[in-house]
Amino acid sequence: MTQPAASSDKPLDFIRQIISDDLQSGKHRRIVTRFPPEPNGYLHIGHAKSICLNFGVAQEYGGRCHLRFDDTNPDKESREYVEAIIRDVHWLGFDWGEHLYYASDYFQQLYEFALALIKMDKAYVCHLNSEQIREYRGTLTEPGRESPYRNRSVEENLALFADMKSGILPEGACVLRAKIDMTSPNIVMRDPVLYRILHSHHHRSGDKWCIYPMYDFTHCLSDMLEDITHSLCTLEFENNRALYDWVLDTLHTPTHPRQIEFARLNINYTITSKRKLLQLVEEGKVSGWDDPRMLTISGLRRRGYTPAAIRNFCAEIGIGKRDSLIDMGVLENAIRDDLNQHASRVFGVLEPLKVVITNYPEGMEEEVVAQNHPQNPAMGERRLPFGRELFIEQADFMEDAPKKFFRLSIGREVRLRYAYLITCQEAVKDASGRVVELRCTYDPASRGGTAPDGRKVRGTIHWVAAAHAVPAELRLYDRLFTVEEPDSDKERHFMDFLNPDSLKVLNDCMLEPGLAQAQSEDRFQFERQGYFCLDSDSATDKKGKLVFNRIVSLRDSWKKINPQ
Ligand code: ATP
Ligand code: MG
Repeated sequence: MTQPAASSDKPLDFIRQIISDDLQSGKHRRIVTRFPPEPNGYLHIGHAKSICLNFGVAQEYGGRCHLRFDDTNPDKESREYVEAIIRDVHWLGFDWGEHLYYASDYFQQLYEFALALIKMDKAYVCHLNSEQIREYRGTLTEPGRESPYRNRSVEENLALFADMKSGILPEGACVLRAKIDMTSPNIVMRDPVLYRILHSHHHRSGDKWCIYPMYDFTHCLSDMLEDITHSLCTLEFENNRALYDWVLDTLHTPTHPRQIEFARLNINYTITSKRKLLQLVEEGKVSGWDDPRMLTISGLRRRGYTPAAIRNFCAEIGIGKRDSLIDMGVLENAIRDDLNQHASRVFGVLEPLKVVITNYPEGMEEEVVAQNHPQNPAMGERRLPFGRELFIEQADFMEDAPKKFFRLSIGREVRLRYAYLITCQEAVKDASGRVVELRCTYDPASRGGTAPDGRKVRGTIHWVAAAHAVPAELRLYDRLFTVEEPDSDKERHFMDFLNPDSLKVLNDCMLEPGLAQAQSEDRFQFERQGYFCLDSDSATDKKGKLVFNRIVSLRDSWKKINPQ
């Protein structure tokens, strides 16, 4: 028997407990799970939860996890989505080996199972249209009524199903339905549709089929054909479990996977629904599926999230049976924790203000030594050029500064990190009265940033040498929506809650010279400003301008603004 390689001391969640028990009792010797996306959009953070669960338990218990495309809706699906999903699951750090499957590869077998049901008088061809089917179905409080086509003979059903398959019938002419129970308290069991006619081109099976199986029929049989032991899905499928079991029981399949439902992931200030994300993309509200504000896997990747941070987040929120809303701050903390450990510290000035050090000799330059990670000396150090002209943040100067403003003001002294102490002597203004330059003096004896006489200088600010500064565009992101649950308002559409300030572009930023060599997977802490990574626009921009995304700020500023 395989023992779980579980390393943490956290108690097992209810799914791991079931799996663990099934291995203990000998019900299964090896567990097999699957992640079954429909290729009708890009994966989002909610899918990451399911991916981490399915691939995670397979890893922990020495089993395997399949990637299966649930591609039974040709009109909404595409090759592009298949490829994006493959890329995203790999990027998250999971591998299915040779176990890549497509429900469309089972179309022939599924068709034969449908024939078997017809022959058992457990399925029939029904000519009610979709509206009538809905009408006949009844409600939660009223039983349904039987279709007038329900008692056709097996022979007639076989002939009609053959017509459906042959292509001579138009879409909507009829459907194949399971013959179960129109009075069942579970509406799913009131003769559900198993097959429909669709004259659509399929991205894999081409024009071979013009009947397509429905999810409920496809999913359980695909699981069975792949010897899945535990079919893990989200809570909205709870009522469908009866149908899942009915199909497998009725067909007396050799194995019978167990469907177990868990709560889906919802995060506040965002939406996790492919259909709605698609709408944002199609209506140009975002720049694409990988817009760094979208909680798609590709958006998170472009934003600068690491796979480890997403996996840690999924581990932290855990698996439960009740739907809940997770605070966005939990996800942001996961990336902060990861980057705090691993990201190199650098200097980047977001909104530059020029500083001239009047007593620094003209033409002179030197280098100062900066730590790449002050808490982790193993990450080494780097040399930064220092000269007479520098850039600092506009926000680090204030004319009429209050006493507690420990940055620059006329007559006040600050530490330029790793360099010198400087004192502001004069603020130069343009015609409109805006401060455009500071004239300061430095203490040549304070190299490294310590006062020779031990005088106290409380403020420390970052800077870059003007002669070597690398200009860059920085993109700062905020939440895409202004309310916690944009898609649960009864009266208003989720688009009404788009945050108009979710993207702020800073065009004239100045970075330390080493950042000109940044690569796309590099992530940095711009000291005092947050974590940044190179955006993919950077590489393709013909003007050669560097573009960085702010992954996350250093602290959760949202908490303070919107206390909960
Ligand atoms: P969406 O509503 O975004 O289209 P979906 O459930 O229709 O999602 P699928 O491609 O069918 O998308 O999902 C693949 C798997 O991911 C399913 O097993 C589904 O239960 C799971 N999944 C989808 N959304 C979430 C979520 N928010 N939290 C956890 N699991 C999810
Ligand atoms: Mg689905």
